[in-house]
Amino acid sequence: MVIWEHDHPYRRSSRDFAPYSNSTLAFCKALPKVELNAHLNGTVRDSTIKELAGALMLNGKPMSLARLVHLTQQTSPSIGECFQLFDILHSLTTDHDALRRIAREALEDFAADNVVYAELRTTPKCRPDRGITKESYMEAVLAGVDDYFASSNAEDITVRLLLSIGRGQSQQEMLDTVQLALRLRDRGVVGVDLTGNPTAGEWEDWQEALDLARDNGLKVTLEAGEMLNPEETRAMLDWGPDRLGHCCCLTPELQRLLLSSGIPLEVCLTSNVVTRSVLNLKEHEFATLYKRGHPVVLCTADSGILNTSLSREYAIAAYAFGLTDRQLLRLAMEALDFSFLDDIERISVQQRMQTVLACAGLEYSTAAEVDRSDRGSMSLPQELSTVEEEVKSRQRVSVGGERGLGRRRSWSMFGRPSSG
Ligand SMILES: [Zn+2]
Repeated sequence: MVIWEHDHPYRRSSRDFAPYSNSTLAFCKALPKVELNAHLNGTVRDSTIKELAGALMLNGKPMSLARLVHLTQQTSPSIGECFQLFDILHSLTTDHDALRRIAREALEDFAADNVVYAELRTTPKCRPDRGITKESYMEAVLAGVDDYFASSNAEDITVRLLLSIGRGQSQQEMLDTVQLALRLRDRGVVGVDLTGNPTAGEWEDWQEALDLARDNGLKVTLEAGEMLNPEETRAMLDWGPDRLGHCCCLTPELQRLLLSSGIPLEVCLTSNVVTRSVLNLKEHEFATLYKRGHPVVLCTADSGILNTSLSREYAIAAYAFGLTDRQLLRLAMEALDFSFLDDIERISVQQRMQTVLACAGLEYSTAAEVDRSDRGSMSLPQELSTVEEEVKSRQRVSVGGERGLGRRRSWSMFGRPSSG
């Protein structure tokens, strides 16, 4: 299994397309963060995939590692190939023990990255040949969440679940998933999402299940515009979900519609580059949306497969869009506003975020942060020729480099100035 002895191709490529500095990454890691677009199967660790691939058969035959190698070693797979890889991973993880394990490991990894609130999404699967029903699938995931909180090393993270409707599923499968989500509402399920290969299915196939979810009080988020499909994206915007994901392939008209809708957007920068939804970050919609004050939340999508973390996504954004530390802090703190928590739950997570900030010597006060005009001051977007200057200038303004976050920073914008 030579492949696993090499660094993962995407791990190398993330600094290729956004060579952020170590001090930026350290600052982003110290921020309390909120993850709103995390696919459970995509969070799986390399080491876990390796073990599962060794133990499982695919379609009744030994797992074809040659195919897995081929897919994972390409630095720029096409969107179709990425989703083929996801199919293989789903096959490896559709097993009660594996699901329980990856749910626990996902929370361990998020907590270690200072994620204080996560909405994990997963597509419940029915696999009679493996003794798996949608219910037992979800019981395994919930058991993994329980395992995490039962462990002595558990850190303070709040978790909710979204059940995913796959774009290529039958209507009955989608309706079954919504019904299951409704039954699991008192177990931490807060909504449903529409996800999957953007070349599969069409709007008419999904609307009934999405209506059922919304009419019964579930929150709904839709992944839209991962490739240019104006008719479909317009239908999604018209339907008015609680959140959208991606939206990186928009016509000028769709961009106007999105801006006027005010619908919060889950932005997954590494995912969009790796799946080639955008050619490079300079052309990413984030720049315009952020500058216009649109609600945006940085997310990982598939932290394991893409070898990223939420801190890394913040660092990539800082590099690509010239965001200041203060702007990063505000992005992180505002993300909670777009979660599917109720007001009381949100206040308790907010308190946790303040505690994490205090540990890092940072301060943030909502009252001092009402002015969004500050967003306009970002330097958009970086030219590749400025890479070295950017890294150097970041090193100059940072306090103490990668390990300097124990020192108190001065944040006069966020309340009282620090004592240094
Ligand atoms: Zn996603």
